[in-house]
Amino acid sequence: MFAEMKNTRTSELHLWADEATGLQAVIAINSTTRGAALGGCRLFSYKSTDDAIHDAIRLARGMSYKAALAGVEQGGGKAVIMAPREIHDREALFKAFGRFVHSLGGRYIAAMDVGTQTSDMDTIASITPHVACTSKGGDPAPYTALGVFNSIKTTLQASSALPDDISGARIAVQGLGNVGFALCELLSNAGAELVVSDIDSAKVTRCEQVFGARSVPPSAILSVECDVFSPCGMGGIIQADTVKDLSCRAVVGSANNQLATPEAGLALHRQGILYAPDYLVNAGGLIHASLSHRGKTPAEINERIHGVAETLSQIFKRHKTSGEPVSLIADRMAEHILYGPAPLQRSA
Ligand code: NAD
Repeated sequence: MFAEMKNTRTSELHLWADEATGLQAVIAINSTTRGAALGGCRLFSYKSTDDAIHDAIRLARGMSYKAALAGVEQGGGKAVIMAPREIHDREALFKAFGRFVHSLGGRYIAAMDVGTQTSDMDTIASITPHVACTSKGGDPAPYTALGVFNSIKTTLQASSALPDDISGARIAVQGLGNVGFALCELLSNAGAELVVSDIDSAKVTRCEQVFGARSVPPSAILSVECDVFSPCGMGGIIQADTVKDLSCRAVVGSANNQLATPEAGLALHRQGILYAPDYLVNAGGLIHASLSHRGKTPAEINERIHGVAETLSQIFKRHKTSGEPVSLIADRMAEHILYGPAPLQRSA
């Protein structure tokens, strides 16, 4: 475990069990050098404790990169709660989790993530001030969707193989949850042609009815011929050996950790598919959580979210000049902000 912490530069790993509520939770703090570690609290059914710990470590590291590239003065952290088979008392569970967060003295600030909701953050707030995304600050999903929408516009302008404007562009959206639905609304209002998919058929029907979207089964969304494929479901869906099945010219979506491995980013590059790095594109939620926690107004938050597309535009310019894969350029930019310039490689 210490080797994994060293490889990922994780500074702290905390476990907490509460017998009364059945809470079993992990908090990984990747870094606090740029501020308190802010990151979502995920409630998920993990196969094992090891899986939960690995997920927390990996996601916390992603949060450090995200905050660095988004220019947010926060470190990276993440919490995972191993979902019990049945939750008898959700409020008691999140109060126990609140005590865990409070024990870290503000080095970690909890926020919403997959499986948790605003009301859970309110429960945590009854125990500790170190929580964002409460009903006072609101749901971060519309802010995340705005960052993704602006990034799709920037991506279209960056490539001559794509239409200049969203109106007339065909966008395939995978996952129609909080972010996916809000993104479809922005895209539909801007005149995009939408192809959608979700494993929840009620969400698909809603998008067909509200936006006149065309739908395809979940297994078919990756191969839909489109300008932009927008993954807004779960992570790990772009794999090096399945990139050849994609029929899009660009990938821009909200899902965390879309690339199953770093090789998947290189495979996209080899296939000429422009990739907008997920942890930059989906930073709207983090910007919202961080700034609303500091009492900033929605107008100030929206203005900062526009910075996401500006950073993406810089990355695309570097990509055009150097010919290097976008995923590598983004990682290097974040690492430069977090750790300073990389040491020069010495020849033997
Ligand atoms: P959500 O749980 O509301 O929605 C996810 C949707 O994806 C659900 O409707 C689910 O049925 C669907 N889905 C899951 N697997 C699928 C599959 N194989 N094919 C099609 N649909 C599938 O989550 P959300 O808040 O909308 O977040 C979406 C993604 O964006 C997640 O990966 C999340 O980590 C990431 N993200 C969200 C935010 C935010 O502000 N909510 C911020 C940053 C990143």
